[in-house]
Formats: sequence, C-alpha cells, structure tokens
Amino acid sequence: MSVAENLNLVKAEIPATVTLVAISKTNSPEKIMEAYRSGQKIFGENKVQELVPKYEQLPKDIQWHMVGHLQSNKVKYIAPFVQLIHSVDSLGLLIEINKQALKNNRIINCLLQVYIASEETKFGLDQTELTALIHSNELDRLKNIEIVGLMGMASFTNNPETIKSEFRSLVSIFHSLKSGIFKDKPNFKELSMGMSSDYLLAIQEGSTMVRVGSKIFGERHYSV
Ligand SMILES: *Cc1c(COP(=O)(O)O)cnc(C)c1O
Repeated sequence: MSVAENLNLVKAEIPATVTLVAISKTNSPEKIMEAYRSGQKIFGENKVQELVPKYEQLPKDIQWHMVGHLQSNKVKYIAPFVQLIHSVDSLGLLIEINKQALKNNRIINCLLQVYIASEETKFGLDQTELTALIHSNELDRLKNIEIVGLMGMASFTNNPETIKSEFRSLVSIFHSLKSGIFKDKPNFKELSMGMSSDYLLAIQEGSTMVRVGSKIFGERHYSV
C-alpha cells in the first residue's frame, strides 16, 4: 500500500472535526511529499534535529508540530516556525518557549502533556505537577505562549479497557480545566490523544487531534 492509499484510509475513518497530524519521524522527505501531494499539510516530528532540516527542505505551507520530549536548550531551533508543541511538561520549558517566541515576535501554541499511562517510561506531568503548573503566578506573565489544550499517551498494551480508562482520565482532566481555570480561554480546546493503534478509541472518547505515524507511513525500522 502506498502512503497516499494509507492516508486516505485513515482520513476516511476520522471525522472532519478531528485534526490529523501525520507523524513523519524517521521517514524521508520523499515519503512526506507523497502525503503532502495527497493533501496532508500537518506533520509531526519527535526530534528537533529531524524537524529542522525537514522544515527547511519541504514546502513552507506545511504546519509542523513537535510531539516528542523537548529539551529547553533546543527550543530556539524550532521557535521560528513550529505551529504547535504537544509535549510541554514543565514550567521551565514553557518559560523558555515564551522567551524564544518573543524573540521571534510570535505566539507559540502549546499543549500540556499529561502522564496517563501506567508505564514508567512515558513523559508528562502528573496530576500534582499539572495543578502546580497551571496555578503558577508566572503563567500570566508568559504573553508569547498560549496553552491550547492537553496531550496524552496511553500505555503500550493490547488491552482496550486499559487504554479506554487512561483516555477517560485525560478527558476528565481536560473538561475540568476547560470549565475551571481555562473557562475564559476559548482557545483551550484541543485534546491530542490517539496514535496508529488507538486513534479510533481516542476519537470515541473525545479526542480532537490524533497523531498517526506508522498507519500512514508504514512500520518504522527502529524503535523510538
Ligand atoms: C511516534 C509517535 C506517534 C505516532 O506513533 P504511531 O504508533 O506510529 O502512530 C504519536 N505520538 C508521539 C508522541 C510519537 O512519538
């Protein structure tokens, strides 16, 4: 199956209200262009060193999302162009993103990554850290970032009940923030949840943004 065929199959399953982010990590610019020519304009990468050269080489109407763990010292390389950072997991990172956004005279949209999986290896804020971050006095001073929602990753498991309950916990956090501390912020509306193996489940549970890689580009040949 070609990238274009895979992409069309995925798109056919996703409601028009849900944003598809094609996760192109480890895939060549040629493969990305196949998806681009089929109409896909939003791509996501998980490493700064892969994202920057792809941004430089590929058409400028592509919207690039950063979905992987981001170190503060690398924010400056993506700040001129990144459309959305899914993986904000500390106040320090948010402060650095704000600083670099200001230097570039832009506002950078961010999602707070919330830890919902039962595995030790997943990045993200736990409930206590999330609460501390959103109540921090510093947040109001960060005029060059906007928190537009949450991101989460379910456990790596075949058990749909586990995945569903992890998604539900994220949805419930999302709704309580949306009707609470973010109630006057209409742009707080995105829930980035769902990958190749679980995006249908994620959409059922209320995802607004799915991050699909291998189902579009084929299996990656090394682990990430
Ligand atoms: C790789 C990756 C994805 C996509 O994974 P697939 O299983 O290939 O769809 C989604 N989100 C993040 C954060 C990733 O690193």
